[in-house]
Amino acid sequence: MDPLMQPLETKKGFPFFVLPIAIIALVIFALKIFFLPPLITKKVEAFVTKEWLTPLDTGKRKDWNSLLVPRKGRFLEERPAYSHLEAHFHTGIDIQNRRHRGGPGEPVYAAAKGKVYDVKVQGEGTRVTVLHLLPNGELVYTSYIHVADVRVKKGMKVNPSTVIARRLNREELKKYGQIYNHLHFQIHKSQFVPQDTILSKSREQVKERFYDPKEFFYHHPADSVPDWRQWVKEGKISLWKLFWTVF
Ligand SMILES: [Zn+2]
Repeated sequence: MDPLMQPLETKKGFPFFVLPIAIIALVIFALKIFFLPPLITKKVEAFVTKEWLTPLDTGKRKDWNSLLVPRKGRFLEERPAYSHLEAHFHTGIDIQNRRHRGGPGEPVYAAAKGKVYDVKVQGEGTRVTVLHLLPNGELVYTSYIHVADVRVKKGMKVNPSTVIARRLNREELKKYGQIYNHLHFQIHKSQFVPQDTILSKSREQVKERFYDPKEFFYHHPADSVPDWRQWVKEGKISLWKLFWTVF
């Protein structure tokens, strides 16, 4: 046989696996073009957070001033060194409920729609963190600290009627100290770095990393139309992070 003729023979017909691969590629292509983007849009629209409510049930959850803020509980307050903590500036607001509505042991709610991002059980410092997607594509993280009986798990979707934990009760306060008789509520800007809570050494640093919760409560972005394609294009959020967040 003439060896030069051999390559021609293999050109007869396609190998058997070409057709299934072509079909799979076509299906993936169709999903990508026709199915996935509208699904992402739907998920993003359902997930973005436009309404914020107080994390304690004051009976007037749309009104931040229905909460009590104990003395020294304000945002940016200077904190002297205490037990194992170094001196720092307050990164959130300490809140309580009106006495007839709540008190130690009362339920703690998510302040807005979101997804549980982190849960850390560590005695009086027990903390739940929820990730929220704002209508302008910005991500913020709310943290609820000095809680117990955490009722949510990482990855769970929550909304303002979800009880995520409760405040420390009287026995726990007796054990850990009355100084923890409040809910510490803070809003991390763009990324969640737990150490920022105690390691922010100036008011400027705190303002770079956290929102003033009261200010944010009344002036958060609410009316932009969510456009995830634009966010991804601008590098505001990666497609992967967007996926994890909304699905
Ligand atoms: Zn605090």
